[in-house]
Amino acid sequence: MDNGIHGALSRRRLMGGAAAMAGWAAAPALAKAPLLKTQVPAFYRYNIGSIEGTVVSDGPLSIGDPAKTFKGPTADEIGKMMTDNFLPKTEMVLDQNVIVINTGDRLVLFETGMSSIARDSKMGLLVENLKKAGIDPADIDAVIPTHAHIDHIGGIVTKEGKLNFPNAQIYMTQIDFDFWTDEKRLGTPAEGSAVAARKNLLPHRDRVVFYKHGQDVIPGVQALHTPGHTLGHSSFVINAGGKSLFLTGDTVHHNILIENPKMEVGFDTDAKMGVDTRVKMLDMLVAQKMDTLIYHMAWPGIGNIVKSATGYRFIAKPQQVVL
Ligand SMILES: [Zn+2]
Repeated sequence: MDNGIHGALSRRRLMGGAAAMAGWAAAPALAKAPLLKTQVPAFYRYNIGSIEGTVVSDGPLSIGDPAKTFKGPTADEIGKMMTDNFLPKTEMVLDQNVIVINTGDRLVLFETGMSSIARDSKMGLLVENLKKAGIDPADIDAVIPTHAHIDHIGGIVTKEGKLNFPNAQIYMTQIDFDFWTDEKRLGTPAEGSAVAARKNLLPHRDRVVFYKHGQDVIPGVQALHTPGHTLGHSSFVINAGGKSLFLTGDTVHHNILIENPKMEVGFDTDAKMGVDTRVKMLDMLVAQKMDTLIYHMAWPGIGNIVKSATGYRFIAKPQQVVL
């Protein structure tokens, strides 16, 4: 038999490097159908008990060299954490996994992506992907960002300033609203998020509803105070029909941070508080064995946390092809 991996390897050896390259390069010309060159729509149905959930992507967000984001280990150590995860050393890409839940009488969107300040055509895709998922943005009645950073509130409006979700109220903490719309942030390293917060939130102040931590934001969705990344940062527990899903927001946003949770994060308003919150939250997820959705984790970002020798490990849930 010559159709297994051994066959493929020996064929490759026989062809030699240059001949193999020529063979590979010639293949598209022989194809019987044109290359499609588009990705499939980025939505994933994931139900929580009796509630229908749909994870929808806003597109990837590149944040460059992780050695500039994480403090503590050396650049070489951080590069090794990346290559140990089969990722490029100096190019960190975050996904943006928004979730919509249909509770029966509410259609609720958590996070909004980057449409108002999209830097390229790979981001700001939330509205397009929602429509492909069969969800009309005009039917969304609650928008609940975990905090007021650029990639979480940046999709409340379009580039032109038009509301993406014209019938929704915006639920957030007053701490984050006040901090990120304050003109004192302009001209500081936090300017990008402040500009986005002022563009997305100030013209729609009448739609903003402030909630308190520890309470239900809407029935079945509890807000927990998880400060550090921002001072008013929230995580949410969605409960329905005996099942739960924990939305971490940006308390943790990459595999290497789950594996090394005591690294400080340059984007955090209070990085030491961020470490403390992250460790407590990951411990809670381990103890409760609770399913979690991590906004910036590799698509679609749903899984469980377990302890490892040095930190924690994320185990992605197998995707359900059929509901
Ligand atoms: Zn973020």
